[in-house]
Amino acid sequence: MKKKRLFGTRGIRGPIDVKVKPELLLNMGFAIAEYVEGGDVVVGRDARTSGEMLNNAFTAGLLAGGSNAIQIGIAPAPCVAFTARELGAKAGAIITASHNPPPDNGITFYHGDGTEFISDDEIAVEEILFDKQPKRAPWDSMGKIANHEAIRPYIDAIKKQVKIEKKLKIVVDCANGAASNVTPILLRELGCSVTTINSHLDGHFPGRHAEPQPWNLGDIMRVVGEVGADFGLAHDGDADRVAAIDEKGNFIKHDALIALFAGLAVEKNGGGTVVTSINTSTCIDAVVEKAGGTTFRTGLGRFTEEMLRHNACFAGEPGKLVFKDFGIWADGILASAKLAELVAKEGKKISEVFRERVPDYHMFHQDLACPDEKKQKFMSAMRENIMAKVGNIKDTLEVDGLRINRNDGSWVLVRVSGTEPKARVVVEARTPEELKRLKEIALDEVQKFFKQ
Ligand code: MG
Repeated sequence: MKKKRLFGTRGIRGPIDVKVKPELLLNMGFAIAEYVEGGDVVVGRDARTSGEMLNNAFTAGLLAGGSNAIQIGIAPAPCVAFTARELGAKAGAIITASHNPPPDNGITFYHGDGTEFISDDEIAVEEILFDKQPKRAPWDSMGKIANHEAIRPYIDAIKKQVKIEKKLKIVVDCANGAASNVTPILLRELGCSVTTINSHLDGHFPGRHAEPQPWNLGDIMRVVGEVGADFGLAHDGDADRVAAIDEKGNFIKHDALIALFAGLAVEKNGGGTVVTSINTSTCIDAVVEKAGGTTFRTGLGRFTEEMLRHNACFAGEPGKLVFKDFGIWADGILASAKLAELVAKEGKKISEVFRERVPDYHMFHQDLACPDEKKQKFMSAMRENIMAKVGNIKDTLEVDGLRINRNDGSWVLVRVSGTEPKARVVVEARTPEELKRLKEIALDEVQKFFKQ
């Protein structure tokens, strides 16, 4: 496959003075108008300070290229996907850099059915942008702007899918991002009592780093306990993601959330395939197998594409969950409502729901500095040296890294980051002793390479 020149694993992201400049967004508007051959494009943005400026640059390009821009203003990424589909638009675009730092911004595209652009689309757009002169519409065929209220129909559509049988107390942390005007309102309308933190729109991200990882979520972990909530929910900047905190203030592992909903989807479907990424726990496989389904793993950022290819009943990668009945996009807001629905229905503490349904294995993660020029050599060295030492191999998977699955359910993953100068090692085992042994083998090989 051709190499991408501009797009990363999810859209384009970067600093607004270096990479994601208004000039780029203007040209991107031209390129998208040509790629979708005119028609309507839904345009939304997150709460970043540069959002309005980039929104206008992109819109100017769309109009000059002959597409219409349906402006929905600040809205979560899943709401953009939903609106594109509901309005029968040719595409959707959200101006966001997800959880990147506040000075960054970016753009991510959806097809008219709400599925995210895949690599082939992105490469085709890059070709229009770099290798061709995008077409400009003549003076009498300029695109037009229409404003559309998108959040209310999105909330109402989720309310049709979800019933919360019991009044739950939930703490919501929107990272001052695009979910601030959505998730708290939705959960209240569904009958929950909601306490919010970091839930006013603010492009300076004053509350916390926008990535919903345990090390950024100290405040919500504390507040859940302080107010005696049933659980907590934390989004990233554009709310395609959500993380959950149990009633005791403990972070619920991303993979456990995938496993829980994957198992339910397979049960409901009477079997079927679940798609997840190379770096997730075999707790997913255990739950899915028990429910009568199978798990398929792919590279990061490719789960919706593979979901369609395999006609899977569920897909997820850490923090991102796709509910097929609603739409083929990662939806942290729908996931929040679905989790509340389940906890209310079970009538148990959320920690018990997970303890009963999802096994908890021992996992180890480490990131190591790895300059870009060493990445290829690093992966070949790992391929050559690590396999024999790990032993008892069931199978291996090589997509975005090397994952060695062992017959006892344990596994070792070595990969290099696509966006940062880093190598990553992940190990999972059923016992602490086995985790220690495999971790030592993996780290020993990795360190040997970097000492050379
Ligand atoms: Mg995101």
